[in-house]
Amino acid sequence: MIAHNSLHDALKERGVRLTRQRQILLDLIDKTGLHLDAENLYRLAKQQDPKLNRVTVYRTLKMLKEGGLVDELDLMHWNGEQHYYETRTKQEHAHVVCLRCGKVEEFFGEPLQKLRRQIEEHFGFQILLARTEVGGYCAHCQVLRAREMHAAAQPPKGPSKKADSNRRRRK
Ligand SMILES: [Zn+2]
Ligand SMILES: [Zn+2]
Repeated sequence: MIAHNSLHDALKERGVRLTRQRQILLDLIDKTGLHLDAENLYRLAKQQDPKLNRVTVYRTLKMLKEGGLVDELDLMHWNGEQHYYETRTKQEHAHVVCLRCGKVEEFFGEPLQKLRRQIEEHFGFQILLARTEVGGYCAHCQVLRAREMHAAAQPPKGPSKKADSNRRRRK
């Protein structure tokens, strides 16, 4: 979470006035700690200010992104083309995304710093920005998937009505 004053200062430096609506959006991104997409941000912000419209949401996100205050993530495109937003935190972290349910975990820790140093040394490269995303299945979804695969492997117990109607539709 970015200290609120530094966010305000950064915006002021860029000559951006923090209107009430922008403040609502920034707070949602910064304080919830969630990785919300534009539609969800719009929905949640609208509860606080019914006059808010979509255009303002998209414009504000663009402004915050260009100002380097907010990061735009695709989270492995687990659910299509949406983008997700979070404020630039001081400490780098990796996003661990469940490709089935979309749960996002944040991994902080030394291995990431180590990887960064190794890449810099190996290529003589100066890293300004690093984004690490890991996709897979969370513990919960692993269980559900195992169950689904087990069920799919069972021989069918006679034709059900549903299977019948599917067959008819295919013809
Ligand atoms: Zn999951
Ligand atoms: Zn994050």
